[in-house]
Amino acid sequence: VAQVAASQSDNDVVTNQGSSETGRVCLGIDIGGTKIAVGVIDERGRVLEQRRVATPRVGDADGEALLSAVVSAVADLPEPAQPYLGVGVGSVGPMRWPSGVVSPLNVPAWRDFPLRERLREHFPGLPVRVHNDAVCTAVAEHWLGAGRGAANMLGMVVSTGVGGGFILADRLVDGTSGNAGHVGHVVVDPEDPPCVCGGIGCLEAIASGPSLAAWASERGWREGAPESERTGRDLSSDAGRGHEVALAAMARAGRALGIAIASTTVALDLEVVAIGGGVSQAGPLLFEPLHDTLRRHIGMEFARKVRVVPVELGQLAGLIGAGALIHRADAYWSAD
Ligand SMILES: [Zn+2]
Repeated sequence: VAQVAASQSDNDVVTNQGSSETGRVCLGIDIGGTKIAVGVIDERGRVLEQRRVATPRVGDADGEALLSAVVSAVADLPEPAQPYLGVGVGSVGPMRWPSGVVSPLNVPAWRDFPLRERLREHFPGLPVRVHNDAVCTAVAEHWLGAGRGAANMLGMVVSTGVGGGFILADRLVDGTSGNAGHVGHVVVDPEDPPCVCGGIGCLEAIASGPSLAAWASERGWREGAPESERTGRDLSSDAGRGHEVALAAMARAGRALGIAIASTTVALDLEVVAIGGGVSQAGPLLFEPLHDTLRRHIGMEFARKVRVVPVELGQLAGLIGAGALIHRADAYWSAD
């Protein structure tokens, strides 16, 4: 029942699915470094209406202008037949949880911005719940996507960064500080390379789009091209055309993912790992070396059964996961 299924490559899919039978809807907000999406989400996780706007390029001091852009995108949605049950938000991290004080990478206007508190002021009386965007993707894939029916799964996003979320025994695991799921900083190489987090050999330092592009550029890929044309997405499309360095970069990312997933699967006895994000669109060029690595590194019989698959909900996952923080709070929201 993936009423919401959309190809990851559809950039401007409009998913007006008509009205909800019960009329019980919530507001979902998905804040990314380049795009903000807002939507009306019903109890079955269908996105009834949505609006997408580019994340405004505002100066460092102008956090309120950015909030206004979010609020006006919400105002642009058709008024639902019944009032919203609540507001679920997925945002780029880092953030403090559950207070929802956010400092999103690539959104310099928000540093220690009290997003949850400010949205409560805009939507008085409604529950407002904010979580990491990669966590929301994992939640959506568990609820209605590639992890449907799996009690134990990891949902991952491999894009500008590498993030994720764990669902164990059918519940989202938040960890002590709300930071469980930071699989991008699982160590996959004890020596190299240094990671932005201060660690060494993190998955993200190898497999994120920028890390991949930097590694390939050092080896002559798209030499002289502007940085905007040397993204992880460009790399995966060049790999698709058989570019040798691009292929090697994807294989390297696949191996790094395989090492991280092998360890994680054995530690947590996972059934499904669902992978999304721009880098994952390389398809078999990424998944084949990943699966080869799993075969080499997973010895335990129980863990060899893990299914490592692409996500199913594409770009709607962020909104659906945000909606799940309201509609499926029993499983996905453990704070106040
Ligand atoms: Zn790191």
